[in-house]
Amino acid sequence: MTRSITILGATGSVGASTLDLVRRNPADWRVTALTAHSNVEELAKLAREFGAETAVIADEARYEELKQALAGSDVEPAAGRAALCEAAARPVDIVMAAIVGCAGLGPVMAAIEQGTTIALANKEALVSAGEVMTAAVAKHGATLLPVDSEHNAIFQCLQGGRMEEVRTITLTASGGPLRLVEDLDAVTPEQAIAHPNWDMGAKISVDSATMFNKGLELIEAHHLFPVGLDRIRIVVHPQSVIHSMVEYRDGSTLAQLGPSDMRVPIASCLAWPARMDTPMAPLDLAEIGELTFFKPDEARFPATRLAREAAEAGGAAPAVLNAANEVAVAAFLAGKIKFSRIALMVESVLSENSLPPAPRTLEEVLRVDEDARMRANAIMETA
Ligand code: NAD
Ligand code: MG
Repeated sequence: MTRSITILGATGSVGASTLDLVRRNPADWRVTALTAHSNVEELAKLAREFGAETAVIADEARYEELKQALAGSDVEPAAGRAALCEAAARPVDIVMAAIVGCAGLGPVMAAIEQGTTIALANKEALVSAGEVMTAAVAKHGATLLPVDSEHNAIFQCLQGGRMEEVRTITLTASGGPLRLVEDLDAVTPEQAIAHPNWDMGAKISVDSATMFNKGLELIEAHHLFPVGLDRIRIVVHPQSVIHSMVEYRDGSTLAQLGPSDMRVPIASCLAWPARMDTPMAPLDLAEIGELTFFKPDEARFPATRLAREAAEAGGAAPAVLNAANEVAVAAFLAGKIKFSRIALMVESVLSENSLPPAPRTLEEVLRVDEDARMRANAIMETA
């Protein structure tokens, strides 16, 4: 049976992995909407290839360009933030939410309001909106399937028992490319982006290097799997073979293993609750040889501590942490700040006198996000 899919962030790394699976099983899928930030050429190419109903470019100024690039095809061009939300709200079997950053929150919420099944890669949206998003999911009867490899692993391990019988959840972390690098001040964007195990977009690659990725994932796990923050652990596992684990009260620990390729967790969401083929070679543990584990080094990489504190504080704190991190990562990638200042900037924005009250609506979350960005930019200019 053919199923319909919309991909938000179709030109990115997760978007490309999703489209790769769709391309391998063309008879199974009908593409409804594809969206991108500003890469008109790539978006138009994909929309033509997959015969999408509509292609949306977030950057409104590129509408004419997109219209021309789609001339003579049946793809309907659209542009701007409202068009992005309209595309996300079109009725489909599944929406892949693969925009990077809080920029993806509006479209994800638009999909949730339709009660859709959403494969969620866009962790920043859930971190920022927290209970506002989980309440909307419950209210509209939507389904969130976690794409993030750790959360997808936990989701799979949770099929083996009941949530109330979970003792702990352990998120594995590769430790990123800088785990063993001594001088964090001298790290260049190229070094930070060169992840040893995963091929990903620039922002999440820097997040892996700072460990903010694991910090965001801790908050993400806290919202997806209500076992209590104090029961969610982090362990560094440089081989990225075990993607996460769930320990039950009887002492059984279930783990999910697989290659470091996002097509595996994406396939698990696309086919859920069934399974589908992927082009992965069988797991060869004898070839891998060794799996090792370490405690995270929070003295050198304070991100997981900051995220845990923000999650404990709750309310607006996670949205503030996320926004400050987005500003700091962009500044680092632009060569404006040193690597080690990313965490310092986030900590400064979080510890500035008063946090705003807990947001209760999407608009309030977006206002908290906007204010925290302004404060992060102000801190950057005065330092
Ligand atoms: P990416 O940078 O490769 O792609 C991001 C996509 O979002 C692109 O299509 C881009 O056009 C679009 N986009 C960017 N800014 C936008 C904006 N302001 N408005 C609308 N669209 C915008 O990122 P990625 O690595 O594919 O990651 C996407 C999301 O998935 C992130 O939240 C990331 O944390 C999460 N994730 C990624 C991976 C991975 O392996 N890449 C793994 C786990 C989770
Ligand atoms: Mg992950």
